[in-house]
Amino acid sequence: MNGKLAPIGERKKIALIAHDNKKADLLEWVKFNIGTLRMHELFATGTTGEILEKELCLNITKLQSGPLGGDQQIGARIAEGAIDFLIFFWDPLEPQSHDPDIKALLRVAAVWNIPVACNRASADFIISSPLMDKDYPRMLPDYDTYRHRYRNKQT
Ligand code: PGA
Repeated sequence: MNGKLAPIGERKKIALIAHDNKKADLLEWVKFNIGTLRMHELFATGTTGEILEKELCLNITKLQSGPLGGDQQIGARIAEGAIDFLIFFWDPLEPQSHDPDIKALLRVAAVWNIPVACNRASADFIISSPLMDKDYPRMLPDYDTYRHRYRNKQT
């Protein structure tokens, strides 16, 4: 890939989100992997974070509830490089009031080439990767060409 290196550090900045029908699933998954997760920096949308904090005494940065802008806050942090890992158990069987925000979040995660798990099996594979406790040389496409497209047109 002709691009830029944007390494993901040994200590990942992980966002955890679950829709209501998936919260029990995420809680169980986090409980099972708590030893690993404690070594990283954790973020969550409001209600998901509240549940994880209360049930597991986790140190977690809570943002707004998803439908109130929490997904967008996580997306913005991904774009800023302040979150570099996403575990998002979204509900494939129910429409959500904030569907556009969910789509935007998944899109921005793809733009910035961060690891994303949208279900438990993917989350299991991701968390058991040997890359979890190493620096990872994430590559990004050369976005400078896109950023400077107008400037380049004029010359
Ligand atoms: P919540 O938001 O954790 O505040 O329930 C999750 C979401 O629907 O994005």
